[in-house]
Amino acid sequence: MIIKLKVTELSQREDLLRFLDAEGSVYTVLEQPHNVFIVTDDHEIDVKKIKAFRVVDEVALTRAPYRLSARALNPDDREVRVGDVVFGGGHFVAIAGPCSVESEEQIMKIAREVKENGAQMLRAGAFKPRTSPYSFCGLGSEGLKALVRAGKEYGLPVVSEITDADQLPLFKEVDMLQVGARNMQNFTLLSALGRQKKPVLLKRGFSAGYEELLLSAEYILAGGNPNVVLCERGIRTFVQSTRNTLDVSAIPMIHRLSNLPIITDPSHAGGDYRLVRPLALAATAAGSDGLIIEVHHDPEHAQSDGDQSVKPERFKKICRDCRKIHALLQEV
Ligand code: PEP
Ligand code: MN
Repeated sequence: MIIKLKVTELSQREDLLRFLDAEGSVYTVLEQPHNVFIVTDDHEIDVKKIKAFRVVDEVALTRAPYRLSARALNPDDREVRVGDVVFGGGHFVAIAGPCSVESEEQIMKIAREVKENGAQMLRAGAFKPRTSPYSFCGLGSEGLKALVRAGKEYGLPVVSEITDADQLPLFKEVDMLQVGARNMQNFTLLSALGRQKKPVLLKRGFSAGYEELLLSAEYILAGGNPNVVLCERGIRTFVQSTRNTLDVSAIPMIHRLSNLPIITDPSHAGGDYRLVRPLALAATAAGSDGLIIEVHHDPEHAQSDGDQSVKPERFKKICRDCRKIHALLQEV
């Protein structure tokens, strides 16, 4: 059970707590900047009695272990803003850019092309957690600086992956912090991102269930940062022909379970530039709140993930068609 308190009546909170103590309830008080919740797993208490307390705003019955994003308590979609870009609440966001920043020239060129072809945000990694330590691991802080300059030059907010809380000062001018699939359960990192306010793009781990993904988001939300966007990026299955398997069901299921926006990464899901369009279309039709797509002007020579990067012209068509599908969904 989640009890949402009226912040204007908090002086009367003790009455409710005394009642819960008398009932023998075990509960937790979650204090956020604009909300206070009491969470209890006790389902025996009479809800009507709880609602009678002045301080109580709403009561939601849920057994979901994640709380702050539970749809049961938050029926309205959560909107997460990154500059003028809005995730959730019927908006559709296209993020595009290379897997990695390779040079200032490269990121400037791609920024211009994705901007011209429909992107609202620019992506690129500077700290790359690679499977092999011998692969290109990114340009680090110099790469981030180049990304920020390219974003400013073309009026695109930027998102980049952070792999360690110690890097936070380097991300000062980065608009959105990405937590990669490999770090979805790096709870120290998640807690640190909860203690600051920058929006977080949280990617689903290779083998994480929906509840695990939402509990990872909960670490950020419980720290006081309400700005979390989820990302379905494919999971490990027995299928060997694609890099991962896009779990299209995750999109409507996450929307049913929680109020957080969820976007889709068809590039890492399929691992093949020819799969990006069909997977993007499918995800959009399933209700995805946006896409994050790897785009490179010269994918044959990209330092990472060239095989799954589309060229700007292909990105343009994907963007155009997905927006049509999204608009259609808004009508029904
Ligand atoms: C990425 O987006 O660059 C990336 C590494 O993705 P993931 O964490 O989903 O593998
Ligand atoms: Mn990549």
